[in-house]
Amino acid sequence: MTDPVTVPTRFRTLRPWLLAAFGRPVHRLALDAGSSCPNRDGTRGHGGCAYCDVEGSGTGALKSGLDLALQLELGLERLARREHGAGGVIAYLQSYSNTYVSPARLDEVLAVIEARAGAPLVGLSVATRPDTLPEWALARLARLHQRLPVWVELGLEAADDRVLAAINRLHTVAEFEDAVARVRGAGLVCVAHAILGLPDDGRAGARRTAEVLAESGVEGVKVHQLMVLKKTQFAARWREGALDVLDAPTYVAWLADFVERLGPEQILHRLTGDAAEDELLAPRWSLDKNDVRAALEAELEHRGTRQGEFAPLRAR
Ligand code: SF4
Repeated sequence: MTDPVTVPTRFRTLRPWLLAAFGRPVHRLALDAGSSCPNRDGTRGHGGCAYCDVEGSGTGALKSGLDLALQLELGLERLARREHGAGGVIAYLQSYSNTYVSPARLDEVLAVIEARAGAPLVGLSVATRPDTLPEWALARLARLHQRLPVWVELGLEAADDRVLAAINRLHTVAEFEDAVARVRGAGLVCVAHAILGLPDDGRAGARRTAEVLAESGVEGVKVHQLMVLKKTQFAARWREGALDVLDAPTYVAWLADFVERLGPEQILHRLTGDAAEDELLAPRWSLDKNDVRAALEAELEHRGTRQGEFAPLRAR
C-alpha cells in the first residue's frame, strides 16, 4: 500500500491532488513507446541536451523487447498487486519526444492506451518537446482526452534563451510559451519541467523560470536540481571540475524562491530528481524526496511565506 506522507501546507503537491481528483491513490506507470528525439537524430541537433543520458531519460523497455501493450499490461498487474486493486494508474510515455513520430505511429500508441481506458487507468501523460508538437498530434491527443484525461509534459528547463543554448536544448522560451498556449487551447492539461542550478542560470534564473511558468498558466510543474548522470555531456565537464552542482541547503533556498513565484494553484508534480543511484554522479544528497519536501516546508515556514506569495500579478 502507499506509504503515509505528511501533506505539506505551504505548497501544493501532486499526491493529495490526485487523491481528491480520482478518489484513490494514483501512481504513474512509465512506458517506452520507442520514440526518438529531434535533438539527437540531427533534425534539430546532435548529441542531445547536455544533461540527458543516451537513453533519453527513459525506461529502455521497448529496447529490451517489450512492446507497449505488454509493458502496459505488466505494469497494471504489478500496481494492482501492490495496491491490492485499490489504486489508479496514469500511463506515462516518458522516453524521448513522444509526439516526434508519424501520425500512424501516434495512432498505434494511443490505440493501445485507449483500449485500457477506464479503471484502473485514469489518465495518460505524454512527454515531448515544445518544438515537436504539431497540430495533428494535438488533435489526436484532444480526441483521446474525451475518453481519458491527457496531460502533455513539456520541458522548459530554464526561462532564458542564453542558458537553453548553452545546454544544447535547441528551442527557445518563446517556443515553449507557444506550445503551452496550444496545449491549453486544445483543452489538455499541461505540465512543465524546470531544472534549478543549470550553468550561468543562478538564483535569479530560478526565480525567472518560476515567473514564466506562472504566467504561462501550466497546471503542473516538475522541478529538480541539476543532476550529473553518467553517459551525458555534463559528466565529462563535471569530472574536469568545470561544472558545479548545488548543495542541498542552496537547492532548498532556491526551490523556496521558485515556489514563492509560481501561481498559487499550480500543482508541484516533483520537487527533486530521482536518478538511479548507479547512474548518478552528483549531487549525491539528492536521493531522498521526503527530505527535500520537509526541508522546503520548513524553509517557507521560516520565511513566513507560501506558494504564490511573489507570483507575477497576472498569475495570482
Ligand atoms: S532531454 Fe529530451 S529533448 Fe533533450 S536530448 Fe533528452 S530526450 Fe531529447
